[in-house]
Amino acid sequence: MPESIPESLQRIIEERLRYYEDLGIRLFYRDRVAGAGSSLRPSPAVSISQPSRVSISEEISLPKPKTKVAAPVASEPGPHIPPVIGPSGPSLFEEVEKVKDDTLLKIREDIGDCTRCKLHKGRNKIVFGDGSAKAQLVFVGEGPGADEDAQGLPFVGRAGKLLTQMIEAMSLQRKDVYICNVVKCRPPENRTPEPDEVQTCSPYLLRQIDVINPKVIVCLGAVAAKTLLQTNRGISHFRGEWQEWRGHKLMATYHPAYLLRNPPAKAEVWKDLQKVMAELGLALPKKKSS
Ligand code: SF4
Repeated sequence: MPESIPESLQRIIEERLRYYEDLGIRLFYRDRVAGAGSSLRPSPAVSISQPSRVSISEEISLPKPKTKVAAPVASEPGPHIPPVIGPSGPSLFEEVEKVKDDTLLKIREDIGDCTRCKLHKGRNKIVFGDGSAKAQLVFVGEGPGADEDAQGLPFVGRAGKLLTQMIEAMSLQRKDVYICNVVKCRPPENRTPEPDEVQTCSPYLLRQIDVINPKVIVCLGAVAAKTLLQTNRGISHFRGEWQEWRGHKLMATYHPAYLLRNPPAKAEVWKDLQKVMAELGLALPKKKSS
């Protein structure tokens, strides 16, 4: 980031880039015609509306798919993006062997007061995971935010409240599922975890999933999906479609934090969660007769 950009503007730009990344958009082009201050623009082929602020009541109304809404617009895949999902790519987890008689407690003990990657420098608490060790459904997010870092629990901030509502809309409770993240320590300024941090921390995630052995894994957002599926394709290319991952069914959907910024996408996520409910044999909500 050039030094001439004020810190406040840097934060706005970073926030905006994260928003685009949630949409699977990673390529940007400098608009040489535009005036000063507008050099960071998406490609003209990409049309994204400004994320709007929403009220709490909007945040909690997850199953509200009555109004037909346009799906978020995804970038066109460039020719250099490998169209790979799944085992044909080199796996981050290939070399991770199953630990005999592993338990969540052992994994937590192995993590200890971890300093294996640079994320340890800014954390307050390691956010290991929360929920049932026998869960049929595991949610995997990206990494802890400020609230999670303070409490040592995953998904307890605004996005966490929305996740809780998503779980309850599925006729489940948080204690019925397991919730964890790719990295266990909060990245500074909530930035996206860097590849070396993901590489170092994700074997613990793998062990957690191996121990729990869920029927279904739901990846919340691009980082979780790309980490487990070992792909660099945008999440919008495979969101809502079942994937096979190490004997588990895996569904990638949008992160609740993205839904807070883009409420119309809740309808898409609700469709994904209904597929998960069907897979788990949970009763789907009855359609209201018109
Ligand atoms: S993010 Fe993971 S690997 Fe890095 S310090 Fe925290 S627990 Fe250790």
